[in-house]
Amino acid sequence: MRQPMVAGNWKMNGSSDSVKELMAGIKAGMDSVKNTEVVVCPPAVYIPRVVGAAADSGINVGSQNICDQDRGAFTGEISGEMLNDVGCGYAIIGHSERRSLYGETDELVAKRFAAARRNGIKPIFCIGETLEEREQGITNDVCSRQIDAVIALEGVDALADGVIAYEPVWAIGTGKTASPEQAQEVHAFIREKIRGLNADVADGLRILYGGSMNAANAAELIGQPDIDGGLIGGASLKAEDFLTICRAGG
Ligand code: PEP
Repeated sequence: MRQPMVAGNWKMNGSSDSVKELMAGIKAGMDSVKNTEVVVCPPAVYIPRVVGAAADSGINVGSQNICDQDRGAFTGEISGEMLNDVGCGYAIIGHSERRSLYGETDELVAKRFAAARRNGIKPIFCIGETLEEREQGITNDVCSRQIDAVIALEGVDALADGVIAYEPVWAIGTGKTASPEQAQEVHAFIREKIRGLNADVADGLRILYGGSMNAANAAELIGQPDIDGGLIGGASLKAEDFLTICRAGG
């Protein structure tokens, strides 16, 4: 049985006060989340205080990115060593905003995946197609290519150290969610692809859905056989909505 996971990607939102309030709200409702692993990914500057606020709550903390290098002359970057040092256990890798706005290639994303692994940080590895790619009928090819870059560098077994988040780009921040059937179809494809290489890794791998998941649609999405939780943007900024999604995982 795969334990469901719900991770909140706060993106570049928040302030000292709002982060404190949001964490207090999530913590207050954690008793109602029975079986789902909960992760929050604040902006990097707030990670240490969120780690502090999360102590003894069962909430895990992740970063929104990670440098492919471990230390040295990489101005503006944050390494896996540093993230580990401040108690951060997860890192979002290859988010579509990083790929499209900051030019991150499949190869760089794979290197970031490797950096997370060697520093004991679990990658939340994002993949997904644009609307144009879906309309061209190449959704599976795109997801496959993105996964293959990580497998080429780290091997298929490495996938067991993290989770995959399938996030159709056209559904992120748009209010347009993939239907449960559309999402399930891609999740099943991803799992089958990996099963062809290593059945144990495929069976144990958690594949999250991301893209306008909210309190109203989470239960139906997470109820699909190959959807093991969600990566949540907008709805993770409201404690009650986020907790409702966490509870949908069980
Ligand atoms: C995301 O940024 O990973 C995401 C899924 O955003 P939203 O839930 O706002 O679509």
